[in-house]
Amino acid sequence: MKVQGSCHCGEVTYEAEVDPDKVNLCNCTDCQMLTGSAFRVSVPAPAATFRLLTGQPKVYVKTADSGAKRRHSFCPNCGTPVCATADQENPPRFSLRVGCLKQRAQLPPKRRIWCRSALDWAQNVSDVPAAEA
Ligand SMILES: [Zn+2]
Ligand SMILES: [Zn+2]
Repeated sequence: MKVQGSCHCGEVTYEAEVDPDKVNLCNCTDCQMLTGSAFRVSVPAPAATFRLLTGQPKVYVKTADSGAKRRHSFCPNCGTPVCATADQENPPRFSLRVGCLKQRAQLPPKRRIWCRSALDWAQNVSDVPAAEA
């Protein structure tokens, strides 16, 4: 599926090809903190299909407890997360943040990962009363 992405302020825009069967919902604590939310939904795009159209993301290199490093790109103006890659020259794929993709409604997660750090209350919110925002 071809996807178009943008940060909230519109400075950073990009496009890529993703496989809708590879959408992950990640419950790791790094994703909780880096999104400021309960979990993150991402989909990998092969590097050859990713095209940055406008803007120049800023990069934060995250070091996991395991020592593994990942490059997290975000808009330097509005802070919206754009993607993450391996910390290397020419990374093979870009992990796109589904909430920033125009096609996000068509990209439900196909598996949950890092479930041992999941927030219990975030696993099923359909019982939370709905209110007008
Ligand atoms: Zn922005
Ligand atoms: Zn995660």
